[in-house]
Amino acid sequence: MFKKILIANRGEIAVRILRACREMNIDAVTVYSTADAESLHAMFAEQAVCIGPPRAADSYLNQEAILTVARATGCDAIHPGYGFLSENAEFADAVRAAGMAFIGPSGDVIRKMGHKSAARALMQSVGVPVVPGSDGLVRTAEEAKAIADRIGYPVLIKAAAGGGGRGMRRVYEPETVEDLFREAAAESLACFGSDEMYLEKLIENPRHIEFQILADRYGNVIQLGERDCSVQRKNQKLLEETPSHALTPELRARMGEAAVRAARAAGYENAGTVEFVLAPDRQFYFIEMNTRIQVEHPVTEMVTDMDLVREQIRIAAGLPLKLRQEDVTFRGHAIECRINAEDPSRGFAPCPGRADFVYFPGGPGVRIDTCLYNGYEISPYYDSMAAKIIAWAPSRLEAIRRMRRALEELTVDGLRTNVELMHQILYHPVFVRGNYTTAFLDEHLDTLLSWIARAEESEA
Ligand code: ADP
Repeated sequence: MFKKILIANRGEIAVRILRACREMNIDAVTVYSTADAESLHAMFAEQAVCIGPPRAADSYLNQEAILTVARATGCDAIHPGYGFLSENAEFADAVRAAGMAFIGPSGDVIRKMGHKSAARALMQSVGVPVVPGSDGLVRTAEEAKAIADRIGYPVLIKAAAGGGGRGMRRVYEPETVEDLFREAAAESLACFGSDEMYLEKLIENPRHIEFQILADRYGNVIQLGERDCSVQRKNQKLLEETPSHALTPELRARMGEAAVRAARAAGYENAGTVEFVLAPDRQFYFIEMNTRIQVEHPVTEMVTDMDLVREQIRIAAGLPLKLRQEDVTFRGHAIECRINAEDPSRGFAPCPGRADFVYFPGGPGVRIDTCLYNGYEISPYYDSMAAKIIAWAPSRLEAIRRMRRALEELTVDGLRTNVELMHQILYHPVFVRGNYTTAFLDEHLDTLLSWIARAEESEA
C-alpha cells in the first residue's frame, strides 16, 4: 500500500480524499493556491504546500509544480480528485513517468474516453447503444447542416473535448444550425483548446442515468448501480439520487451490463462512470464515460456501504477487487443536493463571497461533504459549489422528507445560495412522483422561484 499520497485538488473533494487517507493510515500532502491558504484542505492536512497564485492555470493545473511537490515530499501516489488535472492524460502519464502511481486509469484510457466522438465509435463497436449522430467528427458548419438534415431535427452539437455542459448547442431549426455550430466550436476552443465537434440527435425529455463501475488490474469489472442526475441546470447536475425511479429491475440489469461492457471495451482500470440518456420510450444510449471520481459519488456510497475513494486507492495500489458482482448489495435510497454559491433567479450566476455563519444539519442518515466553515470565503477563482448534503433513508419518500428537514436546518448566512431552490424542488409534485426528466428544472423554474418569493414574503 502507498505510504504517502499527494492530493492534487482543493475544496470538498480534497477533504474527502484526506479522510480516506486517514482511515487507511496513509500520509497525505495537499497543495493550495495563495487564494486557498485558509481552505480546509490546506489546514486539515498534516503537510500542505503552496503551489502558486490563485488562477488555476498557475496552481492547480500547474503539472510541474505539483510533480515537484510530490517528489520533494516523498509521495508515492497522486490523487487528482475531479476537475483540474483529473482527466488530463498527459498528467497521468507524467505522474507514472516520475515513478509514482496515478490514482485513476492510464493515460491511454483517459485519452480514449476523453475524446467523446472516438468513445462513441468504440462503444458502437462493442454493441453499446449510442445516440444516432455523426460518424466521427464534423469539420465544418456546412457539413453539420448536411448531417443534421439527414438525421432530422432537433440535434445537439457537441464538443469532442467537452465537459460541464460547455461547447454544446441544441438546434431545432435548419436555419440556425450553421451559426450555432460556429458558436459551439468557438466556445469549445476557448474552454478546452479544441474545436473538434460532433453531432447527436437531441433526445427530448430524457433522463440522465449513469452507472458507477469499478475495475481492477486483473480484468475484474463490477457496477455499483445507477445514479439519476436528471435535475440539471444548463446541462449541469444539481441533485442526484439512487436508485432511479425510472428503472425497472430488468432495465437496470441491461444498463448495468452495458456499463460493464463499456468499461471492458475501454480496458478500464479504477473507478469510473458510464453515462447514458434514457429516452421516454425506454431506449438508452451511451453519451460519455467519466474517468474519475464524480461529485455525486456519495449517493452510491450510502446505498452500497462502500468507500469509493478507498477503492480507488486500493485499485491503484494493485489490489484486486474484494467484491464480485453478486456480492454487491443495495440498501435504501440516497439523495444528494449540491449547495452552490449562486443566484437561481439570475440565471444561476455565481455569487462568491464570505459565509459569515454556517450551521450544518446532522442527525440520522445525513452526511455533509463540504469545504465551508464560519468566515470562509468562497473564491471567485473556482467552482461555486460549497457543500453537498446527502440524505439516506430506507425508502425514497423518507429520503425526500429527511432531505427537506436537513435543508431546513442548514444555515448559510452572508452568501447567496441555491438552498431555497433545492428545498422547493423537494416539494414539487413532479419531483416527488419521481417522473422528472432533464427538462424538469427549466420547465418549472419560474414556479419554483415564485414559491421561494411567496415563502420569503410570509416570513417577512
Ligand atoms: P458534459 O461532458 O459537458 O457534461 P454530456 O455529454 O455528459 O456533456 O452531457 C451533459 C448533459 O447534456 C446530459 O446530462 C444530458 O442532460 C444532456 N445531453 C447530452 N447528450 C444528449 C442528447 N443526445 N440528447 C439529449 N440530451 C443530451
